[in-house]
Amino acid sequence: MLIMISKLLSLFKSKKTVKVLIHPAVDNGIFTELPVFTGGTLTCHCKSKPVKVKLASQTAHNHVCGCSKCWKPKEALFSQVAVISRDNLEVIANETKLKVVDSEAAINRYACKDCGVHMYGRIHNEAHPFFGLDFVHTELSKQAGWAEPKFAAFVSSIIESGTEIESMPAIRERLTTLGLEPYDCLSPDLMDAIATHVAKKD
Ligand SMILES: [Zn+2]
Ligand SMILES: [Zn+2]
Repeated sequence: MLIMISKLLSLFKSKKTVKVLIHPAVDNGIFTELPVFTGGTLTCHCKSKPVKVKLASQTAHNHVCGCSKCWKPKEALFSQVAVISRDNLEVIANETKLKVVDSEAAINRYACKDCGVHMYGRIHNEAHPFFGLDFVHTELSKQAGWAEPKFAAFVSSIIESGTEIESMPAIRERLTTLGLEPYDCLSPDLMDAIATHVAKKD
């Protein structure tokens, strides 16, 4: 009898799945956006003289991203990133601490040189499909009510930053459970927007 119980227990143990952590903004339940929300302030992680960026509107296309370029909080597998019109973004404190991470990249990511947090990403190429939009991480704001992430982009790219291929099915399953449809590029509507932009050029 005792052997049977321990066998059953070990079966139960082996079936227990390891909790997959995606990003702090989604792991413990996702806040839904407030219908009337006019923005807030992003603050870097510096204890003194933090960089502050004011966003004067709600963001759009918020999602989690698995690419290796987006800034991720410690131990998060994905970043959380949204866009905002560049006219609605203003650096309001300690701008001199910002430096571009990689000036060759399509998106110039402006990071705090002391704490490393990316405060915003900007596209300087006017021909780029997303020119005019800045990329931001709204978890850097204390305000609640930001648009919640709606999908997962560049999921397979987390393998490039060290995730084992064997973990991918569980990660994709977790994303789906959270309502974050996993894609290995951007979401279909954003891919369509890029293709439309390319088609118009010819
Ligand atoms: Zn900082
Ligand atoms: Zn990314």
